[in-house]
Order: sequence, then C-alpha cells, then structure tokens
Amino acid sequence: MRRNGFAYRLDARDGAARTGVFTTPHGDVPTPAFMPVGTKGTVKGCTVADLRALGTTMLLGNTYHLHLRPGEELIRDLGGLHGFMRWDGPILTDSGGYQVFSLEDTRKLDEDGVTFRSVVDGASVRFTPERVIEIEAALGADVAMAFDHCPSLPSDRAGVEAATERTHRWLERCVRRHRELGGEERGQALFGIVQGGSFADLRARSVEAVTSHDLVGYAVGGVSVGETRAEVLAAIDAAAPRLPEDRPRYLLGVGTPRDFFDAIERGIDLFDCVTPTRHGRTAQAFTSEGPLNLRNAKYARDERPLDARCDCPTCVTGYTRAYLRHLTKSEEMLGAILLTHHNIRWFHRLMAEIRGGIARGELARVRSEWLPQAEPTTSQPAE
Ligand SMILES: [Zn+2]
Repeated sequence: MRRNGFAYRLDARDGAARTGVFTTPHGDVPTPAFMPVGTKGTVKGCTVADLRALGTTMLLGNTYHLHLRPGEELIRDLGGLHGFMRWDGPILTDSGGYQVFSLEDTRKLDEDGVTFRSVVDGASVRFTPERVIEIEAALGADVAMAFDHCPSLPSDRAGVEAATERTHRWLERCVRRHRELGGEERGQALFGIVQGGSFADLRARSVEAVTSHDLVGYAVGGVSVGETRAEVLAAIDAAAPRLPEDRPRYLLGVGTPRDFFDAIERGIDLFDCVTPTRHGRTAQAFTSEGPLNLRNAKYARDERPLDARCDCPTCVTGYTRAYLRHLTKSEEMLGAILLTHHNIRWFHRLMAEIRGGIARGELARVRSEWLPQAEPTTSQPAE
C-alpha cells in the first residue's frame, strides 16, 4: 500500500510474523515497533533528543488528556503536536476511547457519543465520533485512531456485541468526518479499531466491518482490559489473520516482552504501553537476567550496571545498581529518568532483535534467547 505519504512495505515473514516498514509523512517506522506513550505530550522523563538517542521512531499522544489540557486549539495554533512538543518523527494519537470507558462512574453513553466529567476541572465534556476526529485533526498526528466503544470487563456476550456494533457505526461517522476535514491529503491517516472481546465470531465480524473501509492501517482493541492471557491470544488469533496483509496492524495497550512475542507471532506490527516508563518510575528495570527491582536491599552495594549487555546511556555511563538504588530510595528524579531511559532502550533493542530474527527466519530462537530472562509482568494500559 502506498498513497498520500503513507505506505506499508512487507519485507520478510517468519510464520505469521512480519517485518516491514510503515512510512508516514514524518518518517519511517521499521516494524514490529514499540511506541513509547507520551500521554500529555511528553514521554515522562525523556527529552525528544533522549528519545531519538534511545531509538524511538514513533510515539503516542493521548487525545483525551490533551483535549482537557492544554486543549487542541492551543496545540494547533502552536504548531500541532509535532511543533508543540518538538518531536518531528511520526506520532499516533489514541481516540480517548480507553480513558472515557474506564471512567465508568462519570460517563453517560448513548448512541451519539459519551458525556464524562473532566479529571482536570470537573466540567462536563462530550465526545462524539465527529468531535474526536476534529480534536485529532487539530492535534495533527500522523495517525488518528477512530473513536471506539471498548467494552469493560466483565462483559457478557450481549454487552460485547452491542459495543462492537456501536464501534462499527461510530467508525462510519469517523471516516466521514475525517474525509470532510481533508482526509489523508492533509497528512493524517485514520486507523479503524476491531472489537469483539474474546468471542472469535464477533472478532471475525468486526474485522469484516472495519476493513470494509479502505484505511491506511487497522488496530485490534479491547484486549488489555482484564482478560486472561488465553483470551487475549484467542482474540488476536481471530482478528489478525483476517486483516489485509499490506496494512500495518496495531495491538492497543499491550506491552510486556512475552505479550510482544505472542502477538508478533500472530502477525501484529505495532505496540504501545506505559510499561517501560511506569516501571522506570517505580524502581523496576528490564534486564537480560530478568526484571530487577532496585528497592531490593541486595543491590545496595552492587557495582554492576543494570544490564551488562545494554547500550543505553544509563548503562554505558556506568551508573551502578547501587547508585540507582540510592537515587530511587531517595526519590531523586534522576533515578526515575535513568531507569526510564534504560527500559525504553531495552524495549527498542528487543524489537530490533525481533525484526532481525524475522528477517533471518529465526524468531523462535530470538524468543528463546530473550524470554526466559524477561518474566511477564502485568500489562498496564493507562497512565
Ligand atoms: Zn541500559
């Protein structure tokens, strides 16, 4: 697929896993790729120069938070999200669907949209599919996500089915508004989101409805809201093989090393998660020996770097586990920053290894090298 400054080129395959390049108006993203989460227009603890040095190609901004503060008009007037935060690489904005539907007690849902209370000032805020597309157009990211109804768990089949069908009706409205505002010609692609919970037939039907729109890319949503791992994998199995091969596939909000391998082996290309940044702020580091919690007293005199094999600035500078533990115990901001940088780099290195593994037909070997060390931790989709 190639049009309007967007392209997806599939380079190699290993089973259902793919490696390729997603091209956007702000640059290329080798896939599979991990996108750090810049909820409020900042990846916590990272300057844009840091992000480039760590190997970030694309990052994520949050429509819900940026709408509430500072507001999309201000951002549009100050250069769009790229100019405002000084990141000239690709950006994706989520639709706010996840945040809106996680605020169960403050929302009112009807067929037209959702009303909720602002976490900033308590004001009543209304999101409709059209309104969300207008906000995302003002933010000006390379990729805007469609506004979807993500059913919260536990949800029975009827509840999931209703949310899935509403997502399809809302997608039609998103597509229409996106086109009215200039469509891809103004440098912004729209991605549709497949729902359907853990019901294979609903997933299949959702893929059919969502891909009836000729969009630059597609996402699989509603898989990180509290299901079991088996349910998540079944949902991906039901959706990914039915998505068009010549478009990027994004799995929303899933982000541990084990999740990455499981999803990539099923044909997923793009990921976002707050895991590396949140863990960085809570004294946890991903390492080739497994997760390391610097609160543990055994690191008090440990003179080793976080990971001897890591090429991140934290490890290369020679900061010791003992020093990093001291910083985090003392609640010094530098501790969180150094750990965040290490974790983001670690995720990008993992993705680079995975891309190489797919290209060589050796993804299974990369998995066996990386996974025994990287224990699964809980996915944490919201920040
Ligand atoms: Zn490191």
